[in-house]
Amino acid sequence: MPELPEVENIVSYIRNILLNRIILYTVIKNDNLRWRVPFEIKQLFNVRVFNVYRRGKYIILKLYSGYIIIHLGMTGSFRLLFNKSNFGKHDCLDLIIDSGIIIRYSDCRKFGFWLWFNKEDKDFFLNKLGPEPLSKNFNCNYLYNLTRLKKLSIKSFLMNSRFVVGIGNIYANESLFKSGIMPTRLSMDINFDECVTLVNSIKKILLIAIKYNGTTIKNFKQIDGKPGEFAKYLKVYGRRNKLCKKCNNLLIYIRQNQRSSFFCKFCQN
Ligand SMILES: [Zn+2]
Repeated sequence: MPELPEVENIVSYIRNILLNRIILYTVIKNDNLRWRVPFEIKQLFNVRVFNVYRRGKYIILKLYSGYIIIHLGMTGSFRLLFNKSNFGKHDCLDLIIDSGIIIRYSDCRKFGFWLWFNKEDKDFFLNKLGPEPLSKNFNCNYLYNLTRLKKLSIKSFLMNSRFVVGIGNIYANESLFKSGIMPTRLSMDINFDECVTLVNSIKKILLIAIKYNGTTIKNFKQIDGKPGEFAKYLKVYGRRNKLCKKCNNLLIYIRQNQRSSFFCKFCQN
């Protein structure tokens, strides 16, 4: 499942292709995504793209007539075509751009979605989200104050987009290892100094992951087809039965709220 660094890279890539260009029309091959692709997107005709940006893991296209909000679900991906070509099995839709480039969206598991909003509904939809982890609003005071009120594990806290957006399983595991905090600890028991460390670790890890084009995960493709290189830098995620890179003891793997948690019981407490 793509997380913030992967989505950030996709957004920078398609921003270059779409900004100030005109979407001539769309071609729909399969509209049966998590929700049906709405008719406003199916009937797009000659509309200018004023902005392309990310909020959490949502990709937002600001058009003259409204907003498209895209979520990649588990396996959504984009690629660029320079000529018309037949749709493959998992392809869903094309945006035909006035530059001659076609942006094609594919999604083999169809958990992604394309929704249409006017400004008020877009704001209402996005306002439920917590702060961006790389923004100033996500800081040690925010984390400390909010975690006091929450009786859930710190890992579940970090992965809840109402509290902070864009941190999925990979980067939650990695940030907690870097901070020396067990993923199973109750969030209300994390002390202030640990909140300082955790906020810094999250920001550092996300910035490095963005730099290295994210982590290539099963079923997920970067838009340029190049693999994300952050996988090399993973310290715990996906390293079941492997040794801790810091202390050489065996890493522990558990299921926590139906998700995989990896940690070192010597380096994290
Ligand atoms: Zn260790």
